Amino acid sequence: MRLRRYHDHVKLIYKTLVARNTKTQLHTRTMTSAATINEQDVASFHKHLRGSTHILALLGAGLSAPSGLPTFRGAGGLWRTHDAVSLASPEAFEADPGLVWQFYNYRRHMALNVNPNPAHYALAELAKRMPGFATLSQNVDGLSPRAGHPPEQLHLLHGSLFQIKCASERCDYVETNFDDPFCEALRPPEGIIDPTANSVRGTAPDISDASVSLPSVPRSALPSCPSCKSDVLRPGVVWFGEPLPEDVLGAVDDYINSAEKIDLIMVIGTSSKVQPAAGYVGPARRKGARVCVINMDPNDGPSGGWRKGDWMFTGDAAVLVPKLLEPVIGSLPGQED
Ligand SMILES: [Zn+2]
Repeated sequence: MRLRRYHDHVKLIYKTLVARNTKTQLHTRTMTSAATINEQDVASFHKHLRGSTHILALLGAGLSAPSGLPTFRGAGGLWRTHDAVSLASPEAFEADPGLVWQFYNYRRHMALNVNPNPAHYALAELAKRMPGFATLSQNVDGLSPRAGHPPEQLHLLHGSLFQIKCASERCDYVETNFDDPFCEALRPPEGIIDPTANSVRGTAPDISDASVSLPSVPRSALPSCPSCKSDVLRPGVVWFGEPLPEDVLGAVDDYINSAEKIDLIMVIGTSSKVQPAAGYVGPARRKGARVCVINMDPNDGPSGGWRKGDWMFTGDAAVLVPKLLEPVIGSLPGQED
């Protein structure tokens, strides 16, 4: 069964992943950077949070980095000998769909073999407790959905590695798919197991290493669209040069426009200076929002500069986010002091 489209089956996989993660992830982290948090800032943030009903969060790769996922967008950004950015375009897929699929099959495998971290769980919990909390995420790794973030409050700006769609623009076929490998042609080659491979990479050779030989995959070996049968399936992510999903942008605009007041905008693990975060800070401020940036880079300030009442928390999102949201969500299991 190469293309599992049966909802029950997907739900079962999801449930298994959630159960597995809930059991293991919260006990494996060390809280190393907790001591560096400015407690006065935390207290003032907590005070504001307690009176908040409308919060917008913008999430980026820095949220998932503590889970152990490579981002490919940072300095270098190489996958094998390829600039990862050069693989993420419709042109690259047209030229060599097998190669682009090998890259995405690898990313799906990596994402399925790491766990959501406490920040994903904390944000999911806030969403469950606060109907006026909306999240806009640039992450395609599926970690927020796996942490139980309610889908109606989670807007995926760049799509998902686990949505598959038809490569034809004239066909609107979409499916949810967690198969790993995505298809037999993408099964990593058997070979000598890399003794340095970590648990994330598992026991197969690490195909991100260009010295591991990887046979090319012809277009004909990729699954074709079961709906139109005229094109192959492709990852349901937004590639460079493609427009962002209109329904997602529209939903976030509706959220901002219909809110009488927005109390807070949280920018987590992504630069608040550049799009998309930069484009939302201004409109949120005009609705009264104070800005909170949580990032590893202490120099990351919002476009337009800091204002009185904003917060910057520098460090590991997996440590900071649960601590900051504690007045509303309480302690996550395994995180009690
Ligand atoms: Zn199709």
